[in-house]
Amino acid sequence: GKFIELGICSQLADAAESMGWKAPSAIQAESIPHALEGRDIIALAQTGSGKTAAFAIPILQALLEKPQPLFACVLSPTRELAIQIAEQFEALGSGIGVKCAVVVGGIDMMAQSIALAKRPHIVVGTPGRLVDHLSNTKGFNIRTVKYLVLDEADRLLNMDFEKEIDEILKVAPRDRRTYLFSATMTSKVAKLQRACLKNPVKVEV
Ligand code: AMP
Repeated sequence: GKFIELGICSQLADAAESMGWKAPSAIQAESIPHALEGRDIIALAQTGSGKTAAFAIPILQALLEKPQPLFACVLSPTRELAIQIAEQFEALGSGIGVKCAVVVGGIDMMAQSIALAKRPHIVVGTPGRLVDHLSNTKGFNIRTVKYLVLDEADRLLNMDFEKEIDEILKVAPRDRRTYLFSATMTSKVAKLQRACLKNPVKVEV
């Protein structure tokens, strides 16, 4: 299959192909059509499967249809992964001027507040630092996001981010789409699934 056959616009299909990707990976082919239908998704997929684009492409498609700042928030277990995720959003969304902010620990809070005040489309961060910014009323307003992604959920939970994730879920709008990606299914992941997904499609590759 080709990217355009997933139901995404030609601009995004071209962007994926210009990354050197000849065809959608299995996780992309399985999840993107459901995501475009507006479903929540729980996906069991390893790093290297193309999982980042599996959630980035449908979010960018929706953003193209209705551009809005603070459109999506992505939770990542580590700074390195957060940076990689933001880079993929920016690469896939370069033609549509997508702006991302990375909000991770170990970096100046003030610089991040300034980046958030510029109202990026996508905020990618680690849960601890995202929670630090929630109390900054002028900064990050998660209440407007349309999409919430929990990437590498098993690692998020193994790193004891449960409390921070709970705080984020408490202020995230109910009227949102949620994508949960995990390499493994554990009892903690199942519990998180029940707490944050509505009638999800389960995708496994
Ligand atoms: P990820 O699983 O998201 O960490 O992606 C792993 C690597 O696969 C990244 O370097 C991506 O650039 C690459 N990738 C993502 N989608 C595809 C695809 N459809 N075909 C080939 N490579 C891809």
